[in-house]
Amino acid sequence: MICRLCCCGVHIIIRTVHTALVLGIPITLITQDTELRHAIYYFQRPFYAISYIVLLLFSLVMYFLACLVNPGFLPPSKKKTLSLNNNSDEEDIFEDSNMINKATNYRHCDFCEVEQPMRTKHCEDCKRCVRKYDHHCPWLETCVGERNHRFFWLFLLSISSLIFWTVYITWESIVYKLDWIQWLESNALLFCDLFVLIIAGMVVFGLLCFHSYLIVVGLTTWEFVSRERITYLKYLDDSYNPFDEGCLCNLYHFLCHWKLRRWEALYAKKAEAQGTSNSGIV
Ligand SMILES: [Zn+2]
Ligand SMILES: [Zn+2]
Repeated sequence: MICRLCCCGVHIIIRTVHTALVLGIPITLITQDTELRHAIYYFQRPFYAISYIVLLLFSLVMYFLACLVNPGFLPPSKKKTLSLNNNSDEEDIFEDSNMINKATNYRHCDFCEVEQPMRTKHCEDCKRCVRKYDHHCPWLETCVGERNHRFFWLFLLSISSLIFWTVYITWESIVYKLDWIQWLESNALLFCDLFVLIIAGMVVFGLLCFHSYLIVVGLTTWEFVSRERITYLKYLDDSYNPFDEGCLCNLYHFLCHWKLRRWEALYAKKAEAQGTSNSGIV
């Protein structure tokens, strides 16, 4: 119980810090003589002001969706029955259960006492099994998995754009002074903002590029970094990815496909197409 309360406290602290940073930096810029002040406070440029506010709110909404949407935790109530039973939340890629049988070899999670569908991994921080596990994100304080990965990526995209825009506004607002001490004093707040923005921007933009690459090639972070330890990948050729359906299709499924997928079925379909239906299935 105490542990659960501590956990809840950490969630609240991290999410409050995030919200404070996302709102706080623009507020400090509005207090200075900046483009943002003229646009929002004096409302001299309505389109500029509305665009900035919409982007800011969109990034916050995506952040909280990524935090609060169930990442794909395996439901304990479906213990032992998950494997081949039809789940109303899952799509039917194959009617042919024999094909699924061939590809399906569910691993057992000793912690959750459930059978893990393909691409599922137990998260030691969440203490749950997560479908299409990507990673556990300390900034969200939850896992990134099949259900919330798109929100996480949209959050990275929107917050990166917001940071670049805010860095530009901040940089443009630095005032020139002949005396460098005066120069430092009069721009101190802007320099603090720039410091935070550049550090955050490098991290967020790096993550955005990395996750965009993973989405396009149809991999998860876990599969990318631990391929040689994953039973359904380690015996396959390094250049072969059984979940890659082509970059446009991967992107479409990632952003627009809301149902949970039967990865075993796709795996079997690709394996049959390759003429190696049994070689890579462990
Ligand atoms: Zn587990
Ligand atoms: Zn987790």
